[in-house]
Amino acid sequence: MFGIWGHEKAAEITYYALHALQHRGQDGAGIVTYENEEWMLHKDVGLLNDVFSRGQLERLSGRHAIGQIHYVHGANVGYDNVQPHLFQSQKDSLAIVHSGNITNAYELRGELERSGSIFQTESDTELLAHLIRRQGAHIDAHAIQTALENIVGAYAFLLMTQDCMYVALDPYGIRPLSIGKLHGAYVAASESCAFDLIGAEKMFEVQPGELIRIADDGIHRKTIQRVKKQQLCAMEYVYFSRPDSDLQYVNVHAARKRMGIQLAKEASVCADVVTGVPDSSISAAIGYAEASNLPYEIGLIKNRYVGRTFIKPSQELREQGVKMKLSPVKGIVAGKRVVMVDDSIVRGTTSKKIVTMLKEAGAAQVHVRIASPAVTNPCFYGIDMSTKQELFAANYTLEEMCDIIGADSLAYLSPEGLEKAIVATTNDSSKGICNACFTGNYPVAKESKMLQAKTA
Ligand code: 5GP
Ligand code: SF4
Ligand code: MG
Repeated sequence: MFGIWGHEKAAEITYYALHALQHRGQDGAGIVTYENEEWMLHKDVGLLNDVFSRGQLERLSGRHAIGQIHYVHGANVGYDNVQPHLFQSQKDSLAIVHSGNITNAYELRGELERSGSIFQTESDTELLAHLIRRQGAHIDAHAIQTALENIVGAYAFLLMTQDCMYVALDPYGIRPLSIGKLHGAYVAASESCAFDLIGAEKMFEVQPGELIRIADDGIHRKTIQRVKKQQLCAMEYVYFSRPDSDLQYVNVHAARKRMGIQLAKEASVCADVVTGVPDSSISAAIGYAEASNLPYEIGLIKNRYVGRTFIKPSQELREQGVKMKLSPVKGIVAGKRVVMVDDSIVRGTTSKKIVTMLKEAGAAQVHVRIASPAVTNPCFYGIDMSTKQELFAANYTLEEMCDIIGADSLAYLSPEGLEKAIVATTNDSSKGICNACFTGNYPVAKESKMLQAKTA
């Protein structure tokens, strides 16, 4: 997500910022602006570049904009679910982008429908709009706060009305969100790498439970729901975020490197070279190599022009995707005992293909080292791993998994090791991580009946 308040090139800047966030999803993109009592929206399924041409950006005039890169999780596929959502009415109109997942969406939607709301999409984002509307025709901070108090789950929201932009984060701060400044304008982004690309300066990270109002008269922060300790998604550090972003003032590359170092301490092995799976595992592989005194080599090359494999809808397509995406470097791996570091295993598709690939390229041994713990629990907070059946480590023992992927050995980082690698540099006790998919300790209570059914 990205938003900007008070810049004459609002849409263009939003476009470039979203470009820096493209890794967060490849399923859709959209931007909305407002000027002279008119809302201008363009969005579609696909990559940012396919969705926007120069002409379309020029039509999006105005000094304020919010935009989003869409990442499909659950059933939210298709045009109708691509954001921003724009809800127009005679009095106050409202544009919304959202990242995360509302866990009591099912119950809330039922309640709202029973009291007369008509939903346009399956997306949980729309819930907030209906909840706000229920407070009356005029949209203000109070109406938004009351609406947010009904919502349970992981959420980061950007909302735009005719006269201000609101920024909200769930009480646990599960999804990342930062505020910055670009000349006289305020900007908000999921990751700080978006600020770097547009030349904005990061001011602060939105704190758990904050509701921020940004308007021409400045910025106003208020904590509306507070928990003692933030529980930022650990998967953001492991895989999702870009290495040049900082989360909770911890650099993502540095955290990944420490995960690799820690992994080498926990699971060393006699080998000749260490290689990583580009791009998200490179930092951890470098750390592993450094800590085990082995050379780090580029043993796998990534074709830049193929999208992220995980995000394609079917298993069959995912399997094809992996082959299109990676090639082994024969001259490096042939005859060698290779440590192959990957950031995570979710369904097991990637690891199996890569081990086969390295062996076909002549590797004498392939030792798989995963720089995060085994994913044994579904995520209910917006990362696409929603059922236990699809999770490799939830269905097999370590030995079985090692066998299935055809590796000579397999080891994961411990949950304690992960936590240490992430929070090592912060002495701030209010900073913590969500690691529910590894440990089953869900930070947000299991309010939803759907959630209870899934975890049972
Ligand atoms: P698998 O192939 O085991 O299903 O997925 C793990 C691989 O997919 C890893 O190499 C990781 O880099 C990549 N990946 C893509 N999207 C995601 C995601 O949303 N979460 C995680 N943990 N890994 C992902
Ligand atoms: Fe992130 Fe895992 Fe928590 Fe989901 S369950 S928010 S993927 S750490
Ligand atoms: Mg990968």
